[in-house]
Parts: sequence; structure tokens; C-alpha cells
Amino acid sequence: MTIETILVLNAGSSSIKFQLFQGEESVLSGQIDGLGASAWVKGKTAEGKVLMDRALSEEEAKDHTAALQVILALLKEFDANLEVDAIGHRVVHGSTNFSAPVLVTEEVDKELEGINHLAPLHNPHNLAGIRGAKAAFPGKPNVACFDTAFHRTQEFKNEAYAIPLKYYEEGVRRYGMHGQSFHYISEELHNVAPEVANGKVVVAHLGNGASMCAIDNGKCVTTTMGFTPLDGLAMGTRCGLIDPGVIFYLMEEKGMTSKEVAHLLNKESGMKGLSGISQDMRDLEQSEDPRAKQALEYYDNRVKRELGALVAVMGGIDALVFTGGIGENSAKTRAGVCKGLEFLGIEIDEEANGARAKEAITISKPSSKVKIMAIPTNEEAMIARQTREICEA
Ligand code: ADP
Repeated sequence: MTIETILVLNAGSSSIKFQLFQGEESVLSGQIDGLGASAWVKGKTAEGKVLMDRALSEEEAKDHTAALQVILALLKEFDANLEVDAIGHRVVHGSTNFSAPVLVTEEVDKELEGINHLAPLHNPHNLAGIRGAKAAFPGKPNVACFDTAFHRTQEFKNEAYAIPLKYYEEGVRRYGMHGQSFHYISEELHNVAPEVANGKVVVAHLGNGASMCAIDNGKCVTTTMGFTPLDGLAMGTRCGLIDPGVIFYLMEEKGMTSKEVAHLLNKESGMKGLSGISQDMRDLEQSEDPRAKQALEYYDNRVKRELGALVAVMGGIDALVFTGGIGENSAKTRAGVCKGLEFLGIEIDEEANGARAKEAITISKPSSKVKIMAIPTNEEAMIARQTREICEA
């Protein structure tokens, strides 16, 4: 079966992001926000022509299935004769059940429902998106593409926590996230830097959420996120690595409930909490406040510390790739991370690093043993590619 037109959906609790691909080309994108309350749809073509920009009626905004009918109408506005051949869905958690994308059958639907508890803020909404798409595009294949799947090549020693083994067996593991991004960058290296594509690569996906991955010959060795997206690097509002003892302290000494602690660590921590100013790197980079400077130094240092761990576990490094909103745009972060790592063969070129990565750029000095790059990621393109592969197999 030849798949030409693919709709990629990323369904969240109150939003659905969508992108339409024809071949490898993204031709239309947009999102619905505010589902359940006062919802809004916006969709525009790749050339920037706005096709829809309006509020949804109460009926249209009542759930994901209703909202998908609005996306269907938008697609018809784009091209009245448009046939969507397949729908690719971002699904955050694949548990141990899924180590690759999968065609959603009745059984897979049930299996997905069975792992909702592992990512209660994401997976139930991803599944609602799948069910909504089934109704909007009857008979068309739906493919679930998992953020965790790329990391299922981790060995036990990188995947387990040192708590009694029965929890590991029950699924308390370091799953890792951002798999679509790491997979995309790993494949993209074959186009932009084939000499390192099969080597040892560390990818730093630095966005609002952030994680790093050690990739050897295209396979994940290990990654910084764990059981949930709270582990690893300091992020916009998430704390990253923390001594679990802090959580006991907050609950026992400060009388906080688990919900309050979860809110503190997920929404009030990271750059926002440390700086007291903003979660956005742009604000912090422009700020004169010493707390902003301190938070930025902290951020770079966390990336550096994880980089050291990943390189040690992988046994070397041939290339370091920055991606995500911060990795692609913040020369200051890239320079801060690489500073002092000359002993590892990491030598950044100040001038080359000054550029924004609108496309792949090399930012290492010619003398650098490690190739340093900034490459724009494209998680939707990866989902579209995986969807095509599954449907055409
Ligand atoms: P998400 O994780 O939500 O997909 P992105 O990968 O788009 O987010 O990253 C968003 C973050 O990128 C912003 O919060 C901001 O901190 C950072 N960012 C975007 N542009 C710049 C820039 N020019 N300089 C520094 N940081 C930037």
C-alpha cells in the first residue's frame, strides 16, 4: 500500500497539534487549544496562508473526537479532494510493551489503555486522539509512535533503579523520552555528517523539556530522563535530578501533599524556580539580575555533568549535537556547555557558534576531535516517516 498523505497528530489534555505531510513535505500545520473550555483552532499552509483561525463552538470543543471533526473540515478547506492515507500519533509512553511504532488494532487499543497509568497526563489524551481519528477517518490506518521506544535498547544496568528487583519487573524503569527527536537526529546525521553517523554521538535535546541521549551506531545506549520526564537535566520548570530525600523532607517537615510536591517539582522548579524570573532562556539571557546568571550557569553545568556521564558509559564520543529550542538557538548555552571540555576533544568555534541552527550547522573548530553540531529537530517528520514505514511494510 503506497502512503502519500499522512496526518500527524499530537493530542494533549486540552490541545491537539497537527501537521499534514505529502511525501516528506509538511504542507499544513496548526493546533486546537483550550479543549473543554473556550477552544480555538488555527491552521496554516507551509507558505503561511491562514486557512482557519476561529473559536470552536461548545459542541466542537467538547472532546477530542469532536475536535478532530474540525481538523477534518480544515483539511477539506485546504484541498476539497484530499484523501488522508494514514494517521500517525505521538504517544508519550510505550511502557515495555512497545519498542517500535505499531499499527493500532483493537488489541493494541486495549494494550494502550492498560498503560495509561504510566503517563496519566499524556497517554489517555494520546489515546483519545487515536479514537477520535478513527471516527474522523474511518478505515484509515492509525499508527502509534512512542517517545520511549527509541530507548528500549538500553541494557539493564542503564535501565534499572537500584530498588528491589520486583519493581523493575513491574515496570518501574528508566524509560526515557524525546525518542522521536533523538531518532530523527540520528538519521539526519547520515545526511549532514555521514562520517560520524555510525559513531558515538551524544544528542542534547534542550527545549522546555530537556534530555540527552548517548547513541552508538544509531542505537540508544542510555538517556537522562527516567521513569517520568522529571529526571535528568534541569528544565524550564522541572527540577531534573534530585535526591528523593528532598521529597520526604518536603512532605514530612513542610507538610506538603504529594500533589503539592508534584506541582512544585514539575511546574515551579527548574529555571523558573532557580531564577525567580522566567522559565524562558531568552528572558534569562537578557536579564541583568544575578539570579538569572546563576541559573544559566547551573543549567550549563547540569548538561556538562550529564555529558560526562553519558560519554563515560558509552566509552567515548565522536559527535555532540545540540537540538530543541535552546539547543538550536542559544549560542550562549552551547558555549557554556562546551567550555572547559577541551580535555575531551570538544573545541567549540566561537564564530561558527554565533549562528542560529535554521539548518544543520557545524560549530566545532577544525582541530576539534569531537564534531559539534546544532541540528533542527523534527519530531513530526519522524512520526510521518515511521507511519509510512509501518503502513507500507
Ligand atoms: P518544547 O520543549 O515545548 O517543544 P522548544 O524545543 O520549542 O520547546 O524550546 C522552547 C524554549 O527554547 C524556550 O522556552 C526558550 O527557552 C528557548 N529558546 C527559543 N528561542 C531561543 C533563543 N533565540 N535563544 C535562547 N533560547 C531560546
